[in-house]
Amino acid sequence: MSRADGLDARRVLAVFAHPDDAELACGGTLAAFRHAGYDVHIVALTDGFNSSVARPQDRVREAAASAAIIGATITIESLPDGDVRVARETYAKIESHLRRVAPTVVMTHYTSPQLQDDHQDHQATGLVATTLAKRVPSPRLILQGEPPVLNSGFIPNLYVNVTDFMDKKLAAIAQYQSEASKPYMREEALLARARWWARQARVHEQGEDEFCEAFQLVKCRSINPHQLIDIRIDT
Ligand SMILES: [Zn+2]
Repeated sequence: MSRADGLDARRVLAVFAHPDDAELACGGTLAAFRHAGYDVHIVALTDGFNSSVARPQDRVREAAASAAIIGATITIESLPDGDVRVARETYAKIESHLRRVAPTVVMTHYTSPQLQDDHQDHQATGLVATTLAKRVPSPRLILQGEPPVLNSGFIPNLYVNVTDFMDKKLAAIAQYQSEASKPYMREEALLARARWWARQARVHEQGEDEFCEAFQLVKCRSINPHQLIDIRIDT
C-alpha cells in the first residue's frame, strides 16, 4: 500500500538543456535509480539542432536510443537551442513536467555565477529547474550535475558511486554518433573524469577501479541511515 505522503514514490525527473546533457552529467546515477526501481524521466528543453556538427538532426533519434539503454523516457521540448532564457516560457515548460512526473528526485545542471565558460542554456535551465523544484512539495532530493566541460567553478559536495553502471553510461553516450567528435564525448575522457571523482570521493579502498559522478547537493529532505553507506557528502 502506498503512503499518503508519497514518501515511497520512486520517480526521477532529469531536466537538462540539450539531448546528451543528462547522460553526461548523471547517466550512471540515472541507470542506478532505474535499477533500484525508480521511474526515470529525462527532459531536454531543446533539440540540440544548433550544434556545430554535421548532422545535428540525428540527435533526436540518438537521444531515444540512449534513453532506452538507461531505461528512461525522454521528452524533447522545442525551446530554441542556444537561446534558453530565465523567462516565462522556460518556467512553464519545466513546471508542466514537474506536475506530470511529481518526482521524488530532481536532477539538473549545476548553476553558479562563479562558473566560467559553461553554456548559457545550461545556466538558464539549471536555475529555473532548481528554483521550481524547491517550490513544489514532491522532491526529496535535488541534485545539480557537473558541467560537460570541466569548469574551474564546479565544486561538488556529493558523489555517487556508479561503478556498476559505467557500462550503461558509456553505451548511452556512444549512441550520440553525431556528437562523437567532441572531446568530452570520448570514452577515455568519460572514464578519466569518473575515475577522478572517485578519487575525490575516496572510494578507492584497495586500488580497484571505481567510478563516480559528482554533484552539488541542493536539497535532501530525508535520508535513511543505511543510504549513507553509498552516498558520501563532503561538507
Ligand atoms: Zn548541453
